[in-house]
Amino acid sequence: MKKDKTMEKIVSLCKRRGYIFRSSEVYGGINSCYDYGPLGVELKKNIKELWWQAMVREREDIEGLDSSILMHPKIWEASGHVDNFTDPLVDCKQCKNRFREDELEKPKCPVCGGELTEARSFNLMFKTYMGPIEGDSNVVYLRPETAQGIYVNFLNVQLSARQKIPFGIAQIGKAFRNEITPGNFTFRTREFEQMEMQFFVHPSEDSKWMDHWKEQRMNWYYRLGLNKNKLKFHEHGKDELAHYAREAYDIMYEFSFGWKELEGVHNRTDFDLKRHEGHSGKKLSYFDDERKERYVPFIIETSAGCDRTILTVLADAYEEEEERTVLRLSPAVAPLKAVVLPLVNKDGMPEMARNIYDDIRKDMNTFFDSGGAIGRRYRRQDEIGTPFGITVDSQSLEDGTVTLRDRDSMEQERYQADNVKEVLIEKLRFKETGVKK
Ligand SMILES: [Zn+2]
Repeated sequence: MKKDKTMEKIVSLCKRRGYIFRSSEVYGGINSCYDYGPLGVELKKNIKELWWQAMVREREDIEGLDSSILMHPKIWEASGHVDNFTDPLVDCKQCKNRFREDELEKPKCPVCGGELTEARSFNLMFKTYMGPIEGDSNVVYLRPETAQGIYVNFLNVQLSARQKIPFGIAQIGKAFRNEITPGNFTFRTREFEQMEMQFFVHPSEDSKWMDHWKEQRMNWYYRLGLNKNKLKFHEHGKDELAHYAREAYDIMYEFSFGWKELEGVHNRTDFDLKRHEGHSGKKLSYFDDERKERYVPFIIETSAGCDRTILTVLADAYEEEEERTVLRLSPAVAPLKAVVLPLVNKDGMPEMARNIYDDIRKDMNTFFDSGGAIGRRYRRQDEIGTPFGITVDSQSLEDGTVTLRDRDSMEQERYQADNVKEVLIEKLRFKETGVKK
């Protein structure tokens, strides 16, 4: 991983504030594995929830699925992963370091300049054994993508949910790839969570649906509040296209370490279903009542990385000002929507603040913070990305008003404590959508 100052600061903020920790840290960590802390898990839940909302609940033509991580090993023969899901590896004969041949600029060891071995192909699937015997006959794999669980359930879902083509199946779940060169914090990890949707269409309508999904998926990133200038499409050229794909676009984001892929919107044709027909001997075709035609549908896939999206949201929101560091997270994703603070820990302020807190947290994730100087408490919430702070001060005890502080402008306005929750809800909505009611 190249040293990148901005990323280093984000990594450090993530640890300090409880977004993301290195896995197994007390044992010195384990390469490229991470744990989501108290704030990270909330952010992750919010992102998965927004994806599920947009991809399943707001759509009549998409059904959800949660398939198992361990599947029949023949699935990975059919999908091509056993034969093709490999990286070309070379070893340095001198220092014994190992590299991906396709990432080397010269055919020499980049560490010591030594001579390299011939490339060997290394399969990226994690292998394990099912049952008590470790032998070739009971090898299973940790799934390298969630998509295959969708393909093999295509007819189960279609028939049980009484869907007609065009329709899609969506799932969120863990996938595993034994990457040789993971890196850039949580951008590329060996264990990760995917948010995938496979949309089944008549073969003549593939490009129409490709256009539809490109637009839908880009809009979803806008909904997360990301800077539109840092998002773009990249079309795969002929040399980049996967063996199964007819047309492929990636949604890219401009990180401090360059433009990187967030999501693939790919036309996988009928490759996957036909391969599963061939390997399983079961028909995976569909009879179209309206067209009076039986066919194997084409698939438009939208495949996003949840961990990648989290890193993008954090990197996009991160800002350093003279006086403070602030995460300008959209309320749509922010782990905490508000903090309630008594100015001092006496004179009835904590009691009044706690009443407000107890009321607000029924509706949203809220934090109560009574410890330390008020300035420092605000800074901590700015760094966490909490959009609003509500403070009970001495005036509150006299006239029943409280201050509402905006994270971004740092301006404070007074409102009656009785309706501060309604004001807060409206302000959160405005900050998220930019539209006044
Ligand atoms: Zn070397």
